Amino acid sequence: MSIKINSNRCVGCGRCIEVCPGNLIKRNIEGKAFMKHEKDCWGCTACIKECVVDAIDFFLGADIGGTGSTLSIQSKGDLNIWKVKDIQGNIQEIVINKKDANKY
Ligand code: SF4
Ligand code: SF4
Repeated sequence: MSIKINSNRCVGCGRCIEVCPGNLIKRNIEGKAFMKHEKDCWGCTACIKECVVDAIDFFLGADIGGTGSTLSIQSKGDLNIWKVKDIQGNIQEIVINKKDANKY
């Protein structure tokens, strides 16, 4: 498992760098995040949960989203919008209101 960081969307907030338990993400000279040690990523998902501008794609296993599928997240106010994108570019969105997230 690994992630891909989209430098066009990265705003350089550094949150993914701070939370990566393996210290795998670094900052380039433009101040944007990039994945320095791809092979060492064990897919903990900490970085994508911190990236609220949808700049990190997390590669899903073939049994979850299909080969080549990715997961990303965007935050808008109280809403977290999770996006599953398949290899053909089809997107499914799961919208969760953070205020309701811990209600059972
Ligand atoms: S959390 Fe997202 S926007 Fe912030 S530095 Fe990482 S990739 Fe860039
Ligand atoms: S998924 Fe986890 S281990 Fe991999 S880069 Fe993100 S924070 Fe680091």
